[in-house]
Amino acid sequence: MRRTASAQLCLGHLSANLARVRVAAPGRRIMAVIKAEAYGHGLLQVAECLAPQVDALAVSCLDEASALREAGYRQPVLALQGFKDERDLHSAAQLGVAVTVHEDSQLRRLATTRLQRPVQVWLKLDTGMGRLGFAPSRATELMAALTANTNVAAVTGLMTHLACADTPHRPENATQLARFQAATRHLPGERSLANSAAILALPNTHADWVRPGIMLYGGSPLADQSAAALGLHPVMTLTTRLIGIHTLMPGEAVGYGATWRSERPSRVGVAAIGYADGYPRHAPSGTPVLVRGQRVPLIGRVSMDMITVDLTDLETVQVGDQVTLWGQGLPVDEVAMAAGTISYDLLCRVHDRVRVTTG
Ligand code: PLP
Repeated sequence: MRRTASAQLCLGHLSANLARVRVAAPGRRIMAVIKAEAYGHGLLQVAECLAPQVDALAVSCLDEASALREAGYRQPVLALQGFKDERDLHSAAQLGVAVTVHEDSQLRRLATTRLQRPVQVWLKLDTGMGRLGFAPSRATELMAALTANTNVAAVTGLMTHLACADTPHRPENATQLARFQAATRHLPGERSLANSAAILALPNTHADWVRPGIMLYGGSPLADQSAAALGLHPVMTLTTRLIGIHTLMPGEAVGYGATWRSERPSRVGVAAIGYADGYPRHAPSGTPVLVRGQRVPLIGRVSMDMITVDLTDLETVQVGDQVTLWGQGLPVDEVAMAAGTISYDLLCRVHDRVRVTTG
């Protein structure tokens, strides 16, 4: 049997979601976050659609930046994790990729390395995320040091990342914004704070550049609102086919560990997708799945390359019918919620062995 799991990418939806960014943050420059293989959608497929439409692309690391350059993308690219050693720094300079400076060892590296060509940098401040970035109180001193460094072409911008933007009413958002504004008030350079959640719900954080990620792919960044209600459309639809149908008598079990038992004569469908493809192994019985466009529950444990679903309440169904795991007709956020995770996690997990088609 040929592999049946497939991820269809709707590039029209990607562009529509980008248009939604522009409506929410009019006039702001857009840095599309396409790290982690564009959240599992494929770095180059997504770059092909977005690169001509945005002001810059953001990736995690220099390997991803290099893949973009090798594929011919000349647009501004920022490596969000910056550089860790001299080799990285040389490669950023050679690739013409901007790097985030977030840590003292990077300053030392910049002071001791001799680059053929200076690099663009973004200075990152940690205003409350507790992850990457310098204490805001050091912003002025750091800006002076970077500006004086001949390896630095320019400090293009100052950035911070919000920890609680998905719950916009939380006071941490205002605290982070106030810290960032206070620390950068007298400094030159552009500003950036907003991820998808902040783009949609915290307009006072929009500043000069916004950095949308999940909303471009059609996932909801806000804990209490669906993607559809926010005007976002799913870019990836993950599908497979039914490869078996059988009947169970009451009391008979399904799958490893016999975790689900039928309470009535039940028709069970076996679909060709599992955790080896990126479907979450911890998705419990009851997680929604679409068969022929109708909702049915997942039953039993997810196997390596198969799942089982309860087809008892479907009128007509046969081997070969399409099964949708998420995307068009079944929001990835809903599946993520059932599986106790977030859409980002599900999308990023989709494995290379899943066939990708674009349209
Ligand atoms: N900016 C930074 C620094 C990030 O790390 C990320 C993603 O994690 C984003 C922006 C985009 O976030 P989101 O996908 O929530 O829009």
